[in-house]
Amino acid sequence: MTGHVSSRTVSPEQIKACAAAVGFDVCGIAPPAAFPELGFLEEWLARGYHGDMHYLARNAEKRADVRAIMPSATAVIMLGTVYNADRPYSAEQCDPGRARIARYAWGDDYHTVIDDRMGRLVAAIRDIGGPFEHRAYVDTGPVQERVYARYAGLGWIGKNTCLINRDLGSWLFLSAIICDLFLEPDTPALDHCGRCTLCIDACPTGALTAPYQLDARRCLSYLTIENKNEIPVEHRAAVASHAYGCDICQDVCPWNRKAGVTPDLPWQPRPGLDAPRLLDLWSRDDTELRTLLKGSPMKRAGVRRLRRNLAVSIGNCGDPAAADDLDSHDEETCRDPLVREHVAWAVEKLRG
Ligand code: SF4
Ligand code: SF4
Repeated sequence: MTGHVSSRTVSPEQIKACAAAVGFDVCGIAPPAAFPELGFLEEWLARGYHGDMHYLARNAEKRADVRAIMPSATAVIMLGTVYNADRPYSAEQCDPGRARIARYAWGDDYHTVIDDRMGRLVAAIRDIGGPFEHRAYVDTGPVQERVYARYAGLGWIGKNTCLINRDLGSWLFLSAIICDLFLEPDTPALDHCGRCTLCIDACPTGALTAPYQLDARRCLSYLTIENKNEIPVEHRAAVASHAYGCDICQDVCPWNRKAGVTPDLPWQPRPGLDAPRLLDLWSRDDTELRTLLKGSPMKRAGVRRLRRNLAVSIGNCGDPAAADDLDSHDEETCRDPLVREHVAWAVEKLRG
């Protein structure tokens, strides 16, 4: 849709009220400028920190400025959604027999839920001000959401590279609506990390190589989700019971001590993904696992990669009896060479 709506017909305040009404916890406006932080991506890619996420390099030009996606852009409406369900942080969950799953992945697939909410927000803005051009993205588009979120006043990019909101913490899904509405931008957020280095100190693999610098190739989130190949042997012990993703550098952040907690239904832990026992997950057949992942963000990794991760986590659980459960399972994915190699590693580790 094209056709400009002037700031006389729709205001940032009206947009923020509509955003709250459809379920967004925080909303701000950023200008579509070439912010210096957008340029850091190039250096990050040049260091190879993106690992096998080649799609990041392929559309790096678009990621450098939203006007490369939509030349008529005049504003970026940034939205934050708290996904922090009321459960202890993973650091407090010390049972090595239970799977640690990244908090964002406990509930429904955020792409679907947030896409739907953005659609309702766009419709509400149109009801007020008439048609306008827009592009809406949640995570999968070529938009550096965190940078625009910072300039929209939603929070600052912490040394753990997450967007942190002073009041809500960092358990936030970010999404963006690039539009041709003329809207007064918000004030950029200031950095409140100060001299803290808790996230850098707590990272089990040294993936935070320096403040604000993440080497994805060492990050458990990358290694257990995006990575389609073997988990490097030198990082397998650090995987511990992280069967899908890692929250450690957010768990330890002081700004998450009083983080916002949401009763929003889509983000509540699904049955079967609420700190499940590793061996219970492993013992399910492939069909059951596929059903479990359906409609969850975890389907991104799929059953094969989940089994690979489970094998490593079970290998780290310290119970020699678990080796028999790993070894005797005969599902299709268990016979996959990638999974077999991780099972062999785990069995050897468990049997000492
Ligand atoms: S998610 Fe985990 S592995 Fe990745 S940087 Fe944070 S603490 Fe390190
Ligand atoms: S743990 Fe400390 S340094 Fe890391 S993001 Fe939080 S406040 Fe910043």
